Amino acid sequence: MNNAQIRPITERGVPIPVGRPAQHSTPDHGDQSVTGILAVQGAFAEHAAMLDSLGAPWRLLRSAHDWDDSIARVILPGGESTTQGKLLRLTGLFEPISRHIARGRPVLGTCAGMILLAKRLDNDDNIYFGALDAVVRRNAYGRQLGSFRSVGSFASITDFPRVFIRGPFVVDTGPKATVESEVDGHPVGLRQGAILATAFHPELTGDTRIHELFLSL
Ligand code: GLN
Repeated sequence: MNNAQIRPITERGVPIPVGRPAQHSTPDHGDQSVTGILAVQGAFAEHAAMLDSLGAPWRLLRSAHDWDDSIARVILPGGESTTQGKLLRLTGLFEPISRHIARGRPVLGTCAGMILLAKRLDNDDNIYFGALDAVVRRNAYGRQLGSFRSVGSFASITDFPRVFIRGPFVVDTGPKATVESEVDGHPVGLRQGAILATAFHPELTGDTRIHELFLSL
């Protein structure tokens, strides 16, 4: 679905939760391929709504108790990476998600999620999962240019409405990561095995194709 409606966002770059409350609205039966959505902060509700529209089971990950072997894939949503990083540690979710990534299982990181995945940040000493072979700069787009929309490709998906909200800037990529999406020659979407990472927010559009690609991994 192209030319999708863009959902409202706040000045601070935090999407306004719209639609359903962030609960288990698509039942997960605990025995199939469940997507765990990191839900300690940020735009997790939009990812849940996206998976609902695809009929894919999901579970919010708020504490280590939410983790079990039925989690086949993980979404790291947009938001505030420093806060998310702290809460990942406090909730005990850092270890199981780290193990999941190390096993080469599917992960989709959008915006702050890309920051959490990067092997290094060039303007911040923190390293979180350190799995994605890329150097990323936080808040690289200034306030004026912080939020914009650009239609473009991600991998074989064309004409995708890419929504940027003070997104990370990919400074460099290593040999393990491939560039799947660019704006003016700068990478804004990466893939490394089953890791998909976008500097933009596919969950803030009505276009489900990147989520469908993720669910096919
Ligand atoms: N600027 C945020 C950060 O550094 C990311 C922006 C977003 O996820 N919308 O964490």
